[in-house]
Amino acid sequence: MKTIFNADHKLHDAAFELIGGKMMPAFECPRRAEIVLEKVTEAKLGPVIAPTATGIAAAAKVHDAKFVAFLEKAWGLWSEEHGDSDALPMTWPARSLRQIEPDSIDGKLGFYSFDAGCGLTKTSFQAIAAGVETSLTGVDLILAGETSAFALSRPPGHHATADQMGGYCYLNNAAIAAQVLAEAGRRVAILDVDYHHGNGTQAIFYERGDIYFASIHGHPTQEYPYFLGYADETGAGAGEGANLNLPLYWGSAWDAYGAALDKACEGIVAFGADTVVVSLGLDTFEEDPISKFKLKSEDYLRMGERIRKLGLQTLFVFEGGYAVEALGINTANVLIGFES
Ligand SMILES: [Zn+2]
Repeated sequence: MKTIFNADHKLHDAAFELIGGKMMPAFECPRRAEIVLEKVTEAKLGPVIAPTATGIAAAAKVHDAKFVAFLEKAWGLWSEEHGDSDALPMTWPARSLRQIEPDSIDGKLGFYSFDAGCGLTKTSFQAIAAGVETSLTGVDLILAGETSAFALSRPPGHHATADQMGGYCYLNNAAIAAQVLAEAGRRVAILDVDYHHGNGTQAIFYERGDIYFASIHGHPTQEYPYFLGYADETGAGAGEGANLNLPLYWGSAWDAYGAALDKACEGIVAFGADTVVVSLGLDTFEEDPISKFKLKSEDYLRMGERIRKLGLQTLFVFEGGYAVEALGINTANVLIGFES
């Protein structure tokens, strides 16, 4: 399996985040991608290649072009107003407020986000854009006939909606890949195994019957993103039946998780997918600092084996996972399990 590594990921390095009432060093940090690269290399899974300079025009296939343009210019507008700090939203167009894009950068940041989890630095957009190219390079490998590929980039993408950033995510790398694969004639399923519900991916494809979305995640009554990810969200219109949410409660370990993964895989088979995009988050790990599932390192081997049993071409796209020292092993284990 080839790994496509976005070396520009480190250009996105937010100084801090607000979590649990405290300003903390950002959990979504550059070391995450570096340790995964180390362990994937050690595991000799295959060549590590750089992304092709495809450009990011494909992002507009699932994102509002105005949102993409905003991300590109946001930090510049912010620095004119606030100087050399991370751009962060603080006010959102919630219930009772109008959905209107203000001129003020502070207002724009709120308009184009749904939480305060997305700081933008001077060079963040370069990392984000290279992330899209990483994902698109993975698509090219799949279309060229490779059985599998691993798009290793950060920041992650699955929380990003058509026109909002949130949850450390800016552009939705997995959704962009799925869309391009579908346009190439593939019947695509997205399997989201990140601990958090992939609300952005769900929202992008919710009324589409041609792309299937299955997600196993912390139950939104307990867990971020709280306002989407319930089991009764099954798709709408042409998408009815093409959305499968399998929320699990805090404390869930492999017995419950493996059963949910079986259900997700059964849904993917019933949909008739020929290609799978895996939103590969590893924050289901028992030692993850912001999550509450109980998966162990060896469980990720089983996760990879189960995905392989689908017998489909598979593009893994890196998402969350914040127990940094174990993140490399856990990620590699999924890929090793898949290849075994
Ligand atoms: Zn997550």
